[in-house]
Amino acid sequence: MSDMSAIVERGKNVLVGNYARIPLVMARGEGALLWDAAGKRYIDLFAGFGGAILGHCHPALIEAATQQAKKLWHVGNTFYTEPQIEVAEQLNKTAFTGQAFFCHSGLEANEAACKLSRLRGRSSTPNRWKVITFLKSFHGRSLAMISATGNPKIKAGFDPMVPGFINIEPNDIALLEKAIDAETAAIMLEPVQGEGGVNLFSSEFIQKVRELCDRHNLTLIFDEVWTGCGRTGRWFAHQHFRRSDGSVILPDIMTLGKAVGGGLPVGVMLAKPDLARLLVPSTHGSTLGGNGICMAASRTVFDVIERDKLLNNAATLGEWAMSRLQNDSKLAPKVANVRGRGLMIGIELKDAPEKMVEKGLERGVVLNLTASKVIRLAPPINISRELWEQGLDAVVATLIA
Ligand SMILES: *Cc1c(COP(=O)(O)O)cnc(C)c1O
Repeated sequence: MSDMSAIVERGKNVLVGNYARIPLVMARGEGALLWDAAGKRYIDLFAGFGGAILGHCHPALIEAATQQAKKLWHVGNTFYTEPQIEVAEQLNKTAFTGQAFFCHSGLEANEAACKLSRLRGRSSTPNRWKVITFLKSFHGRSLAMISATGNPKIKAGFDPMVPGFINIEPNDIALLEKAIDAETAAIMLEPVQGEGGVNLFSSEFIQKVRELCDRHNLTLIFDEVWTGCGRTGRWFAHQHFRRSDGSVILPDIMTLGKAVGGGLPVGVMLAKPDLARLLVPSTHGSTLGGNGICMAASRTVFDVIERDKLLNNAATLGEWAMSRLQNDSKLAPKVANVRGRGLMIGIELKDAPEKMVEKGLERGVVLNLTASKVIRLAPPINISRELWEQGLDAVVATLIA
């Protein structure tokens, strides 16, 4: 469509080229469906990096944001406002007892977590300040968070890195023990690595990480920016990690972004109270963080997930899809491995594909490719079974074409 290419041209002139954008203009969305500016319909199996966890233009989110927009937008964090408190209460109910700090993005939530772990580390001698993270991780794009991120491509060109971030191979407890020294303050990890290719950790590994943190007085940070708010079929992905007695392995700090705002910019750091109390006035802040409209939407994300039993939907549709993909003999020549949790699914191909995202779009599905050969699926968790099946059919057709 000529009018679509005209819009793309305008965009190329005035937008920074830091995203590998597809020359397509998305114009409208409803639930798990998107329409481009030429009127073509797509099934959205990626939900904007998982941010549109309840799909596009959910009526309950529209209502919540609209009502709040008529009441109060922004007063700054010199006052209490109720929507913030309600989101924090939801987090206490669904995750663990803690205190919340609100910002706008995942990287800011991680910055807050790392700053807090240094504050805690200051109380010991020698001063603990280093944060251990893992290869193939992704923690955000600020200078500190590219230093935390265990992927050389993301750091390239931005030397020198912020000191104090150690990136090591995951799933190796002996290596982790060796990496811990007298100056280590924290270990930070994603319960399922997202950008790195949907990589899972075992409960055994996480339990040992927790034990090491307890033994050495380290802060354990779970970066749940991708995995949080129902994506994996539980409220938070760490709730899949269990000790042999069935108890959940908890972090000291959890960070959220992406889905927690339902598509509006929200980042959260939730810290256990004994840690959170170290963030006294003037240690940290965010001017617009916890903004009324964003918080009203975020609170409603929790309400809708609970009301519509969407954890269950994510778990059931995810399991069904993974077994379908694993057992499809037509896929076997192309696919090395299918893995994931809930509606966070990675299809690792044997070879890096060409133009896979574009080919999916031609067949009417939005998918994502990460870590060069892992196709990622993360539809809205309220997607209907029918659309999910149709979408998967299109993914399979794209893969074997
Ligand atoms: C996306 C992501 C981030 C960064 O979030 P932004 O909102 O883009 O800053 C951090 N950690 C993980 C695990 C992510 O997936």
